[in-house]
Amino acid sequence: SMGVRDITLAFGANQVLRGVNLDVPRGTTTCVIGPSGSGKSTLLRTINRLIEPDHGDVLLDGRSVLGDNPDQLRQRVGMVFQQFNLFPHMSVLRNVTLALRRIRKIPEDQAAALARHELDRVGLAAKAEARPAQLSGGQQQRVAIARALALQPQVMLFDEATSALDPELVKGVLSLMADLSAGGMTMLVVTHEMGFAREVADRVAFMDHGVVLEAAPPEAIFEAPEHPRLRQFLSQVF
Ligand code: ATP
Ligand code: MG
Repeated sequence: SMGVRDITLAFGANQVLRGVNLDVPRGTTTCVIGPSGSGKSTLLRTINRLIEPDHGDVLLDGRSVLGDNPDQLRQRVGMVFQQFNLFPHMSVLRNVTLALRRIRKIPEDQAAALARHELDRVGLAAKAEARPAQLSGGQQQRVAIARALALQPQVMLFDEATSALDPELVKGVLSLMADLSAGGMTMLVVTHEMGFAREVADRVAFMDHGVVLEAAPPEAIFEAPEHPRLRQFLSQVF
């Protein structure tokens, strides 16, 4: 399970996170929705230790991880970004093996075997020797997902993983994410794909101005939203 406890963060005078609380039980998927600038990306970045929060805590299986080495934490918490951040000068296979070799110190041949397994899982076994530029955006994003999965994380974070994709490529990545969720991965997914949130999420958290205003199963969020800000947000989206 993953827990976020009362996280606050300011960039100068801009109080971006104002006490965020969230629980993602093991094997479940929580989608985070909310307006632009509400702090969704910043929240994920604090969970993955790309930014240090001012106050609060992040728990994995009930234990605080804020004292852990960030590189070690990032093996346990995988993250997928809107921009795929693949290394353009390396093959797909090398993109996936890099962290296995550098961070987990796994020997080259063993890392390659693990990477090929993950590439197979995302349907890209045949592209192992290609360069990222030879792949479609959807394929590149699936490589980024395989790269995160290769480290066998306990939790996966997704930040608008399909927002940079051409419309016809979105579905393939969403269905891969749905498969991961159905397979029991613990996931925290920032998305504006309301259909995905409705169908795949166990819980949906609505963020506004740096707090989670409402968190509930998708049926409750979409059919019976309580908070006026959530109602307003949904009326703009649908
Ligand atoms: P979007 O839906 O547009 O992606 P978001 O909910 O992900 O929005 P964030 O990117 O977390 O929002 O930004 C929240 C606030 O924090 C914004 O006001 C933004 O300008 C500010 N912010 C984010 N990153 C930084 C940074 N590195 N330095 C200063 N301010 C930042
Ligand atoms: Mg964002």
